[in-house]
Amino acid sequence: MRKPFIAGNWKMNMSRAEAEEFAAKLKELYKDTEVKTAICAPFVHLERLAEAFKGTGIGVGAQNCHFEDSGAFTGEISVPMLEEIGIDYCIIGHSERREYNNETDETCNKKLKRLFASSILPILCVGETLEQRDAGREKEVVAAQVKADLDGLSAENVSKLTIAYEPIWAIGTGRTASPEQAEEMCKAIRDIIADMYDDGVACEVTIQYGGSMKPANATELMNMEDIDGGLIGGASLKAEDFIQIIDF
Ligand code: PEP
Repeated sequence: MRKPFIAGNWKMNMSRAEAEEFAAKLKELYKDTEVKTAICAPFVHLERLAEAFKGTGIGVGAQNCHFEDSGAFTGEISVPMLEEIGIDYCIIGHSERREYNNETDETCNKKLKRLFASSILPILCVGETLEQRDAGREKEVVAAQVKADLDGLSAENVSKLTIAYEPIWAIGTGRTASPEQAEEMCKAIRDIIADMYDDGVACEVTIQYGGSMKPANATELMNMEDIDGGLIGGASLKAEDFIQIIDF
């Protein structure tokens, strides 16, 4: 059975003092539940968060990594570096990195392969633009991303993967996909996994929805059959909001 998985994506937010305050508050509010939880934070906060959340059941994730282990890649962080400080998850292919940092399906694929050779579990983001949705191409676009990003990955790896369906038009805009729209796409992704692998893998892969998810809409989204969790941007910056989503 898939467990619900709620992950926060702080993006490039939070000072050190704010991160510490958040961690203290979340630990105070958090009750060990059946819901898996993680905070994906800027690199500079990761080690302290991993320390702060040790033994609580709250995981810590990075927002990117490099596919090589070391070398002349100025400004990059490798998977072994993240493993060394006890990181649990890593977001791959967020639409902001695809748009501003030249992330492609090819680099996502290499990063996924490197992560699956480590102890860190990837959260792969896919999703269409408003223009692509208006043209009725959302399923075709997302299917192409999933197929290219997972190329060559084993069934065993994909069973452990989290895919976040994040329609770009709903990220940070306050405009959420309706539960029906989100469910339709999450189901379509599960069907693609069934085609690429089999029903068992499709049943095990975790599929999150992301895009202006907040306490007010989390329950109806989480009640949909193929939505196993959420990737939360803005509403993960306040522990009081984030905990309400975890407690959906
Ligand atoms: C995100 O950054 O992955 C995201 C879903 O952001 P927001 O919740 O702010 O729309």
